[in-house]
Parts: sequence; C-alpha cells; structure tokens
Amino acid sequence: MSGERPRRPAPVVAIDGPAGAGKSTVSRAVAAKLGYTLLDTGALYRCVGLEAHRLGVVNDPEQVATVARDLAQRRAIRFVGDDSGQRVFLDDRDVSDEIRTSTVSTLASKVSAIPAVRQALLQIQRDAGEEGRVVVEGRDIGTVVFPDAEAKFFLTASVDQRAARRHAELQARNPEASLSAVRDEVQARDRRDSGRPIAPLTRADDAELVDSTDCSIGEVVDRIVDRVLQVAAGLRQPDE
Ligand code: C5P
Repeated sequence: MSGERPRRPAPVVAIDGPAGAGKSTVSRAVAAKLGYTLLDTGALYRCVGLEAHRLGVVNDPEQVATVARDLAQRRAIRFVGDDSGQRVFLDDRDVSDEIRTSTVSTLASKVSAIPAVRQALLQIQRDAGEEGRVVVEGRDIGTVVFPDAEAKFFLTASVDQRAARRHAELQARNPEASLSAVRDEVQARDRRDSGRPIAPLTRADDAELVDSTDCSIGEVVDRIVDRVLQVAAGLRQPDE
C-alpha cells in the first residue's frame, strides 16, 4: 500500500448508519469480540447538546460552537469502563442515561448540523482512532472522520424496524413513549442528518452495506467480525 501516512498496525472499523439501525448494539458487540476499543461518536454530539441546553444557549450556533470547543479542549467528555458497559462522563458527572433521552437525541441532531461543532469534535475522534484497533460508530466516520478506515460498514434497516427497536429501547426508561411518536422522531432525525450540507449521513462508496431488517443482530455482528478479521490479516502481510 502506498500513500502519505504509514499503514496502521490494525484496522479502524467505521460503522455508520441512521438512528435505530442497531449500530450501538452491533458496534459494542463487534468491539468486544475483536478486543478493540469502542468510540461512540454520537455520545460526543449528545454531550454538546446537553451542555448547550444546560447553559441555555442551544439556539445560538456560535455559542454552541464555543461550548463544543471548550469541551473538546478540556477533554471533558470521557468514556469509562469496557465495551460491555461503557459509561459517559461530562466532567465529573455520569450523563450516560441523561444523554439517551429523546430530548437530547433531538438536541444532538440539531447541534451536529453546526459546522464549527463538527470541526471541534473532529480531532478528538481522530486521536482516539489513530492507531487502529478501534470500532468507531457514527454518521460520517467512513466519509469524513476516517475516510482511510480499513473496514467500513453502513448499517441500515427499514424505518419501521428502526422505530420499533428504538421504541423498545426507550420503553425501559419511559413506558409512556408511543411507537408513532418514536417513528416520527426517527424520521425527523433521518431528514436532518441526511439533509444537512456538512457531513450528511451518507454511505461511503467503499462501505459495505449491511441491511439488518431481516436478520438478527448476532448475524450482523458475525458478518462484520469476519470481514474485519480478513482485513486485519491482510494488514499483517508484508507489502511485497
Ligand atoms: O448515534 P446517535 O443516535 O447517538 O447520535 C445522535 C445524533 O448525533 C445523531 O442524530 C446525529 O445528528 C449526530 N451525529 C453526527 N455524527 C456522528 C454521530 C452522531 O452528526 N458521527
């Protein structure tokens, strides 16, 4: 392989896709099976949304960008624990549950459309994946954050299936959440994430499309793990 940068010793695995496609569950399981680190980039946007909301600046893009830059500079967002039970800390506060509410999902999707916010979070993501052996899940990992990722997947499923999964997930915390409201939220996020001018949700040309509508999470995990193992074996081969 020729190129400007030295070859990584192990792959960066990029897993992108829309809300509710099972990305988090799949990414966690893939990372655990491979013994790789997991980077949940959505949690970064969720923390920015949460903090901007707490400070009352969520409707002012410049101030939201300032919040993002401040959090990034201070490395204030931390992932603690292993891939089977990662907790998210914002400064010293465990915000793992708070960032998963529907309100914060919508806030994250809004703040993530601000170019300066994306810019502020870019380096944290690249630093975390530089050496490989990492599963990075998000929306623009294969296209923007790691266009050179060695293994890229675009995980999707039908809107109904994704809404049903997200609804089941939310039920534990909020039994009142209706399926139709969750479906509307998923669709609104799809529109915002795919329609934004910067880093829209889109499949990288070289990403493998994985449609999980009719297969189990376990099948998806096995397929991705097999593929990554092949790629990793290739990286260990001498160049010529
Ligand atoms: O993946 P998750 O649902 O936690 O992401 C929350 C929101 O953060 C997404 O709807 C999307 O707007 C934004 N996001 C993004 N780019 C990423 C990860 C998440 O824009 N790489």
